[in-house]
Amino acid sequence: MAELEGLEFGKSDFVLLDEVTMEQFMDNLKLRFEKGRIYTFIGEVVVSVNPYKHLDIYGKEVIEDYRGRELYENPPHLFAVADAAYKAMKRRAKDTCIVISGESGAGKTEASKYIMQYIAAITNPNQRAEVESVKNVLLKSNCVLEAFGNAKTNRNDNSSRFGKYMDINFNFNGDPTGGHINNYLLEKINQHLYVLFVQVLRGGSDELLKSLYLQRDPAEYAYTSQGASASNNDSLCHKAVMAALKVIGFTTEEISSIYKILSTILHLGNLQFTSDGEHVVLVGEDTVKHISELTSTEPENTRKALLYRTVATGGGEVIEKGHNEQEASYGRDAFAKALYERLFAWIVGRINSVIEVKDYNPALHGKNTVIGVLDIYGFEIFDNNSFEQFCINYCNEKLQQLFIELILRQEQDEYQREGITWQHIEYFNNQIIVDLVEQPHKGIISILDEACLTAGKVTDTVCLDSMNKKLGQHPHYTSRKLCPGDKTMEFNRDFRIRHYAGDVTYSVEGFLDKNKDPLFQDFKRLMYNSSDHVLKEMWPDGKMSITEVTKRPLTAATLFKNSIIALVDKLACKEPYYVRCIKPNEVKSPLLFDDGRCQHQVAYLGLLENVRVRRAGFAYRQPYARFLQRYKMTCEYTWPNHLMSTDQEAVEAIVNQHGFEDDVAYGHTKLFVRTPRTLFTLEQERAAL
Ligand code: ATP
Ligand code: MG
Repeated sequence: MAELEGLEFGKSDFVLLDEVTMEQFMDNLKLRFEKGRIYTFIGEVVVSVNPYKHLDIYGKEVIEDYRGRELYENPPHLFAVADAAYKAMKRRAKDTCIVISGESGAGKTEASKYIMQYIAAITNPNQRAEVESVKNVLLKSNCVLEAFGNAKTNRNDNSSRFGKYMDINFNFNGDPTGGHINNYLLEKINQHLYVLFVQVLRGGSDELLKSLYLQRDPAEYAYTSQGASASNNDSLCHKAVMAALKVIGFTTEEISSIYKILSTILHLGNLQFTSDGEHVVLVGEDTVKHISELTSTEPENTRKALLYRTVATGGGEVIEKGHNEQEASYGRDAFAKALYERLFAWIVGRINSVIEVKDYNPALHGKNTVIGVLDIYGFEIFDNNSFEQFCINYCNEKLQQLFIELILRQEQDEYQREGITWQHIEYFNNQIIVDLVEQPHKGIISILDEACLTAGKVTDTVCLDSMNKKLGQHPHYTSRKLCPGDKTMEFNRDFRIRHYAGDVTYSVEGFLDKNKDPLFQDFKRLMYNSSDHVLKEMWPDGKMSITEVTKRPLTAATLFKNSIIALVDKLACKEPYYVRCIKPNEVKSPLLFDDGRCQHQVAYLGLLENVRVRRAGFAYRQPYARFLQRYKMTCEYTWPNHLMSTDQEAVEAIVNQHGFEDDVAYGHTKLFVRTPRTLFTLEQERAAL
């Protein structure tokens, strides 16, 4: 039981701290981490510290301990939150979601996997084959997405380079019937090494590598030559991924196309260009031949797409313009990145087509409910922050906004509505920063888009100038021009946003390129004309002829913004549960609790505010009728029926009989209970009858 756990392990709920100060919070967090208690509640929120070692707390017996129990009956655990979300969904037919946040390496993806495993373990008690198969595909999809979307970075050996939101659908029995995955901003390759390439090279059979014209040594390829440390697991992982693809239902033809695309990317990375004095020429004809064969395209067309681009002149004439060396390399890299992005998007779409609930008839099957699980990158502040960090941090502002919206404001609003005395809690509303980024016409994304759409050569610096002019007065925006003395920012390059989590200086270099679709239409057309059906399917926009390509595609920032707004809308209509992950140190050590780093994370996750709100308020509330229904048997005046004039009076009788007067408040329609123990005692009495 949570509160009765020995005090030598610290307090299992931060709500129980003597005083809500950063010092006490950190002492408790550290003590618990050192005692191997990595989870702590703040009410219904679970705070988790990455243990960086295997803990024996996820097995079958532990699952049984948490199954169907109330949140406050067991020590804090991911399973408690998973069960609460599941119960709310099943008992009250509510859609729920579990939002997992924290920085890179804090343990989000591991947490999401344990939560999925828990849900898989407690559902389908009758082992119905069709439900088992849905569960299997849902679990296996993780393995595939990780292989394609994770990379080894210096912060995390298995870092997710994409955000993931997965809806799991349930029927009225509470058994999974399917799901849907949304992914957000897959980071481009080149910067990081996707683990999958090395797995294929080290784990693929000799025949496979031969058919793909690949050498086994990752050092042979420009895209895999750096940082590909040897792992004994590569072969095993490769097999597991291939097995998972088959379980999900990928056909042999599809898997073969996936391999070919992966090897095309590796070959592209090795293509070099040089000049014969007049024209740019390709070095390595064999490589081009291999690429053509692997992509089922004509070698002549492939060569052309690499060396020329087709442009429409003002007069409607179509001409071929030769690249210079720099343009050719740029085109090649953009092509390789786009191939990977589209492959990833196609795989997600393909998994969705398998897991999507089909033919669900609510009249026949009851309401279809959902649990959403969000595993998304946390705040990023590096020495050098670019477009990716800008997007990720914007996303975190949006999620913080939702957190404020749902946890803090709703809580306060409800007390007011119910006429309960409420001590006002000050909190920072970050809407102003969200607006700075996303407001139409005025926000940073709008200014970026405008610069991208302007014909001619708008450079990053020109765009920065425009931002400085339009946003210079904004309290959360700083330009170097406005603070000339600031040596930490570079003139004509940097701008700074005062995020809710802290100041971040962004270098505008490369922003426009990353925001635009950098891929020449020639590559799209080349892929669309491939005789490999799977590959062709990934490039529907290659169908357009050059004269048709007038409408510009949406920019990367706008696409991202739209997807995050849609995500927040989805989350906002669900009952939210939160897991807040903390990374204890930078060196992946199970022993080290770096006070400074941890405190920083506690601060920007807003955990102290969270405790304050929770403490100022009441841990539980229930409409009078429902409370009465559940506990009327524990009081002689209310069992089997009460004779009082209102349900509220009857509830008062129960509360008084147990001596809980000081722990509750009476709202207009609900009873509010301050501490979890009161409810727990009632539950125990109820069970003992
Ligand atoms: P990113 O944002 O980079 O994807 P993340 O928050 O998803 O990071 P994880 O990949 O979940 O981080 O965790 C990083 C590593 O920490 C794991 O590979 C694992 O070694 C360790 N780890 C995380 N959680 C646990 C846990 N509960 N028990 C044991 N080890 C863990
Ligand atoms: Mg991750």
